[in-house]
Amino acid sequence: MSAGATGAVPARIPVMVPWLGEEEARAASEAVLSGWVAQGPRVAAFERAFAERVGAEHGIAVSSCTAALHLSLIALDLGPGDEVVVPSLSFIATANAVRYVGADPVFADVEEATGNLTPATVDAVRTPRTRAVLAVHQGGVPADVHALRAACADWGVPLVEDAACGIGATVGGKSVGHGALIAAWSFHPRKVITTGEGGMVTTDDARWAERLRRLREHGMNVSAAQRHASATPIAESYLEVGYNYRMTDVQAAVGLVQLGRLDAIVARRRELAARYAELLREVPGLRPVRDPGHGEGNFQSYWVLLAEDFPVGRDALLEALSAAGISARRGIMASHLEPAYAGHGAAALPVTERISRDSLILPLFHTMGREQQDRVVAVLREAAAG
Ligand SMILES: *Cc1c(COP(=O)(O)O)cnc(C)c1O
Repeated sequence: MSAGATGAVPARIPVMVPWLGEEEARAASEAVLSGWVAQGPRVAAFERAFAERVGAEHGIAVSSCTAALHLSLIALDLGPGDEVVVPSLSFIATANAVRYVGADPVFADVEEATGNLTPATVDAVRTPRTRAVLAVHQGGVPADVHALRAACADWGVPLVEDAACGIGATVGGKSVGHGALIAAWSFHPRKVITTGEGGMVTTDDARWAERLRRLREHGMNVSAAQRHASATPIAESYLEVGYNYRMTDVQAAVGLVQLGRLDAIVARRRELAARYAELLREVPGLRPVRDPGHGEGNFQSYWVLLAEDFPVGRDALLEALSAAGISARRGIMASHLEPAYAGHGAAALPVTERISRDSLILPLFHTMGREQQDRVVAVLREAAAG
């Protein structure tokens, strides 16, 4: 489509738009005007609501999912000499968190259909030094946690879940996070619900929860909010080296509203994903992401895998989309190929490398109209025709 005689240039189609409105703005404003903007009552309320939503006993809000992963690995007492099996096919924060505690990330391959770890891909790289498995619900496609939990139980290692993209996805009808030993979540605007930046750890373990609350607040034995609420002065002490990984009450106020929108957000994403799947059925050489047999995704990232004989390469296709006014993205990265992991060593990861080389993420956002979706598919159809 060109600008044409009418002069009407269609607006550029973004890859993602966070679903935020007046309600979030009002909630943030109320938090500001309350005078309590740091971690306080709204964070506590958001933690309770979020944990309840995913079916966990405890929620510990933090500043990002990266912080949530870091603290989760500390809670598991992982450190130098320990190996943690992670997918290379993930945002780099997954592997980096392992390095923050001085442990070694060991990259495992993923299955092509979901982009996630399976017991078989983990088993292929497991060693006697494996102390944990860190599985990702990649792009909002739930990993088969029942199979992974059973395998990890056999091996005697804990399963940590990187659920950065997973809110609103389900396994066997239950929320991702339900029954998880420990799970880390993200509220970055590129994820399904957002607080600007932000993260959460969920767990059923009360002792881990207590330690996580302490670790996010400099290792203090009492929180600033508890001290403030106390009629008598409380002398705090610092039980171990902690961090400043707190979420603010302004963020939590937004998060509470976002949580209330979650069902609508996921329903809309699934509706758009279903329409993409239908339209793309007529485009040869493209395999769109879809629900795995064990659960339902939230389509946080709508990715398509190009057949090896697709007439144009992935990067050329991204350029064609861009020239048509459409923002798309490379598929999920392969962490082991980044300079930060040069010399780190990894087993052969053929599926990871294929998906990261030949996949792309298409625009999907709540206000996306049929005409916009048709425009995206038209470019793909033209490319497929060669
Ligand atoms: C986005 C993302 C993270 C990091 O989340 P932040 O909240 O930005 O720190 C970690 N893991 C995965 C799989 C992600 O997609």
